Amino acid sequence: MELKKEIRLKNIPTKASEKYRNFPMVPRVVFGNGSFDQLGAILMPRRKHSEAPMVYLVDAVFEGKELVRRIPNIFCDQIIFVSAQDEPSTVQVDVLVSMIKENFQEQPSGIIGIGGGTLLDLSKAVAIMLTNQGSAEGYQGWDLVQKKSIYHVGIPTISGTGAEVSRTTVLLGPDKKLGINSDYTTFDQVILDPELAKGVPREQWFYTGMDCFIHCVESLEGTFLNAFSQSYGEKALELCKEVFLGDIPANESRDKLMMASWHGGMSIAYSQVGVAHALSYGLGFLLGVKHGIGNCLVFQHLAEFYPEGVALFHQMIKKHQITLPTGICQKLTDAELNKMATIALGMEPLWENALGEHWKRVITAEKLTSIYKKI
Ligand code: NAD
Ligand code: ZN
Repeated sequence: MELKKEIRLKNIPTKASEKYRNFPMVPRVVFGNGSFDQLGAILMPRRKHSEAPMVYLVDAVFEGKELVRRIPNIFCDQIIFVSAQDEPSTVQVDVLVSMIKENFQEQPSGIIGIGGGTLLDLSKAVAIMLTNQGSAEGYQGWDLVQKKSIYHVGIPTISGTGAEVSRTTVLLGPDKKLGINSDYTTFDQVILDPELAKGVPREQWFYTGMDCFIHCVESLEGTFLNAFSQSYGEKALELCKEVFLGDIPANESRDKLMMASWHGGMSIAYSQVGVAHALSYGLGFLLGVKHGIGNCLVFQHLAEFYPEGVALFHQMIKKHQITLPTGICQKLTDAELNKMATIALGMEPLWENALGEHWKRVITAEKLTSIYKKI
């Protein structure tokens, strides 16, 4: 009996190999300027009782700002400010989870992430790790999460990553930068209030926005493309062009970039990213270069893979007078360059999406180090 059961379990296809993915989506979303003020009413029915707090993870950039006064901080709720200086790590998630467990006897009623991709990813991971045992590091990968996470809400304050819709939370671990990809990762509620993105510095606006643009290009030019991804990717690309090449008023631009991010994220859900993301992961892991700027640094040199996308990118850079840093990889040793290339080469699904199943015939470590050397 026991043996049979085990065989049957082994034969159940893992989610990642399902023929057609059964993909979770954010079940509830609010959109509109000022919609942040509905947060209190949205959370109220989710409060288990007065001892089970809502825990707000808020980008430290908002400390002392008006936004914080608008947070419905009642009963024993807690606001934790977290710096987005560094991208989220498994250790940081573990520390936050133990802090919350120490502070409260009851499990929180919910986790609310307010900020960019960094804070959104942290909140997703904390919500998962409050119900799953061990360290976040043990869940980096695909469908390793066993137990449902606690209720979590994402409130983006900068647009582009698509982290508000995705079923992953990208974490820097001790030996890899990899997401916790699971059905429990996706937010239960998202609030899209474009006004929250008002204070974003211009260059950061551009880098994070380009993450979305690059998601579109990599998805639309990829071999995994299908009508689902294409429909979202084309819309997101159109919005990115309006935002970064058109001359539209700032409020319209904020609305459109927020929706571009959403659609870009939906597009890659059912396909994959590509060359820029693979190379950017190498930069992120070894040098701590952040996702948005890392993608830009790489993408500028990828005309051979994405000729039209890279040409548009250069137009956008010019229009917004962005000067990308140079000399980032100049002082690296061969061993360091090789380490980055190895990390990039390890992102197999990204390469397969970009170049098809025979990608190894085209892409070698030397090829990748030659691109890194230009950065
Ligand atoms: P971020 O969250 O790192 O923030 C970038 C900077 O902008 C920070 O200094 C932050 O304080 C500041 N900022 C944010 N909102 C602001 C506001 N309204 N006013 C002023 N300053 C503001 O940036 P990001 O590019 O959104 O996120 C990058 C992270 O997202 C990376 O860790 C990356 O791995 C992750 N990511 C996740 C996914 C996913 O699907 N989960 C997808 C892409 C990227
Ligand atoms: Zn990205």
